[in-house]
Amino acid sequence: MLINGPRGTKDILPETVAQWTYVEDVIRNICARYGYHEIRTPIFEHTELFLRGIGETTDVVEKEMYTFTDRGGRSLTLRPENTASVVRSYLQNKLYASDALVKLFYIGSMFRYDRPQAGRYREFHQFGVEALGEENPSVDAEIILLAVEFLRALGLQELRLHLNSVGCPKCRPVYREKLQEFFRPHLAELCEDCQSRFERNPLRLLDCKNAQCHELAEGAPRITDCLCDECRMHFDEVQAYLAATGVTFELDANLVRGLDYYTKTAFEVKYMPLGAQSAVAGGGRYDGLVEEVGGPSTPGIGFAVGLERVLLALEKQGLLPKVHESVDIFIVALGDVAKIPAFKLMQELRMAKISASMDFAGRSMKAQMKQANKKNARFVAILGEDEVKEACVALKDMKTSEQKKVASKDLVSALCVEVKN
Ligand code: AMP
Repeated sequence: MLINGPRGTKDILPETVAQWTYVEDVIRNICARYGYHEIRTPIFEHTELFLRGIGETTDVVEKEMYTFTDRGGRSLTLRPENTASVVRSYLQNKLYASDALVKLFYIGSMFRYDRPQAGRYREFHQFGVEALGEENPSVDAEIILLAVEFLRALGLQELRLHLNSVGCPKCRPVYREKLQEFFRPHLAELCEDCQSRFERNPLRLLDCKNAQCHELAEGAPRITDCLCDECRMHFDEVQAYLAATGVTFELDANLVRGLDYYTKTAFEVKYMPLGAQSAVAGGGRYDGLVEEVGGPSTPGIGFAVGLERVLLALEKQGLLPKVHESVDIFIVALGDVAKIPAFKLMQELRMAKISASMDFAGRSMKAQMKQANKKNARFVAILGEDEVKEACVALKDMKTSEQKKVASKDLVSALCVEVKN
């Protein structure tokens, strides 16, 4: 019986890989412009890292982690996100020693036991950035602009930037209580998830997708009315920096991130035509995280972009680059006698950095020419019995259909000139 890939996973097939590398090129380009360096961390970490770094009361930790015990009895987890891993690596490798502000980015797969649907998978890919070591609001603005500019660089236009502040451990407890006071009389009307969130993570009541919870949340007190002076000032400054660059944003009091370590700035970029899965990027400040995973108190801020959603958006808008397979030369070998000389010639061409291909099955001339056309060969070299005897090839220019005899020993140099033109 055929074994299919696990539910929620997708193969990235050769014809689509070019789309991924195109997006990755845009990422690397923009990160270089903003001064962010690539980091690659392991796909799995000690489960404890995510319990501490994401928060035990979050949906990700409670319901979505791929956790397993290895043969040595350790509890490991496939990373559901990469921020905790980057922070772990920052501490373990003492990256803080080289710079007060460390700016990193990553591209890689994340794993969550989510309910698969369009734009939601169990293995998905994120591009993310993290800036560690600086609490100044200008870093928040830089990070937000990087997220927006990345999406714009790909050609996406109907973007909406939502901005909020989720306060800090000083002001959030007061807000939490206000929120609980507000929701308490309505507890019975809340969905099951929100009833359990009510005590442990009441901020999450604000972004529940359930229609009734959502309606109730509309009237809830706003965290931005409860911010302490420091958080208020920080939030005002982030907005001032953003406003100065001309980027438009909407204040969204119900934007709360699902993870406990977020402080102050929270933001999301939505691409509206994607409908239910319109959130393409989400991030915020996490001044409490580094301490949470055992390091010294260190401010940090970052975001992650869901690359499958970005690709869906690009596809919807017809913004994906068209890729055409092409080869510099296709060698047509006719008859047994030509097989080995043709193969030798193909290897010589490849070693001279010319892309070359041939048929391995001894098909007819017509079938081989068909393959050459399918591969968009710029040239075709035909080798039959006569050409082998004369140590030459019949070289056909597929653009002009002109054909000429070229000595095999001169083919590489002849093509080096032609292919470069
Ligand atoms: P988060 O790490 O939950 O803040 O998510 C950041 C971004 O990753 C989201 O805005 C989505 O674009 C993307 N994302 C999150 N979960 C999934 C998933 N299961 N499948 C595909 N993309 C996802």
